[in-house]
Amino acid sequence: MKIGVVRDGRVLAQTIRPSESKQGLALQLPVLKAAWLGLLAELRLSLRHCDGISVSFPSLVDTATGRVLTEYGKFADAPALDLRAWANDELGLVLAIENDARMALVGEWRAGAGRGVDNLAMITLGTGLGTAAVMEGRLLRGQHGQAGVLGGHSTVRYGGRTCSCGNIGCAEAEASTAFLADLARGTAEFAGSSMRDAATLDYELIFKHAAAGDACAAGLRDHSLRVWSALAVNLVHAYDPELLILGGGIMAAAEVVLPAIREYVARHAHTPWGKVRVAPSELGDQAALVAAEWLLEEQLGADACRRTRAAA
Ligand SMILES: [Zn+2]
Repeated sequence: MKIGVVRDGRVLAQTIRPSESKQGLALQLPVLKAAWLGLLAELRLSLRHCDGISVSFPSLVDTATGRVLTEYGKFADAPALDLRAWANDELGLVLAIENDARMALVGEWRAGAGRGVDNLAMITLGTGLGTAAVMEGRLLRGQHGQAGVLGGHSTVRYGGRTCSCGNIGCAEAEASTAFLADLARGTAEFAGSSMRDAATLDYELIFKHAAAGDACAAGLRDHSLRVWSALAVNLVHAYDPELLILGGGIMAAAEVVLPAIREYVARHAHTPWGKVRVAPSELGDQAALVAAEWLLEEQLGADACRRTRAAA
C-alpha cells in the first residue's frame, strides 16, 4: 500500500506498508490512518489541513457511492465496507475512490508521460495487468464503471487458462506475477530450471535467469512479452490512442519490455493514420498519488475542495 500526502500535484511525503491483502481491508484501515497521521506530523500538518482522501484500488469500484464492487482474492471484505463512512467517522474527511490503473493513467496524463495528449491508454504490468484509457480528453469509465480497465481480462488465448475473473485465456492469466508460479510449474522445463528452488517467482527473477540462459525462464519471458504485446494491440484497436504508456513494477526491466512491445505494436497494430507512440511511465510509483487531487476535485467539485481548504 503506497500512502502519500499530495498538494498542487506534488507528493510532499510518502510511505509504504505491506498490503496483507489476504487478511482483508478492515484490518488495514487503522494502519492507513496511522500512516497518514505520521506523514502529516512529519510535515507539521494535521487532518484539518486536508481536503479529503483519494483511494486507488486494484478492482472495479463505484465512484458514485465510493464502494468497491469486486474482489479477486485480495481484500475479500472490501465490497462490504463503507469506506466513506469510515473516513468521515474516523478522520472527518470526504473520500473518493477510483480504479488504480485509471488513477495511474490520470497521473501520467496530468503530470507525466501523457501531458498534452487527449487520446491515450495505459497498461500497468504488475501483480495483475491494469489498463485504462482516455478518449477525446475524457477518462473512460462507461455505464458500469468498467470501461477501459478490463484490458488485462481481454482474451489473448481462447483455449487458455481460467482466470480469477471467470473468463478463459485472459492476458492476466497468461502473463502476470499473480499467475507466474502456476505458469512456470506448468512448463516441461521447470524441473530442470535454475529457478526450481526459488521461494517466490517474479519477473525480476525470470528476466535474470533468462538472461543467464535458463530455458524455462527464457520461454516464460518470451511468452509474457508476446502476451503483453497482444494486449497492447488490443488496446490500440479498442481505444484509438496516439500514445500507449507502460507502467507497473515489471517495467523496472523496461530495457527488456519496452522494445518488445514497441516493435510488436509498430508491426501489428492496424493504424493507417500513423504509428502509436509507446512510452514508459514517467511518474512510476507516484502516478496514482499525483492523481489524488484531480479525483477529489472531479468527484466533489473544485469549489467544495477550496471551501474545505479555506475553512481549515
Ligand atoms: Zn480475467
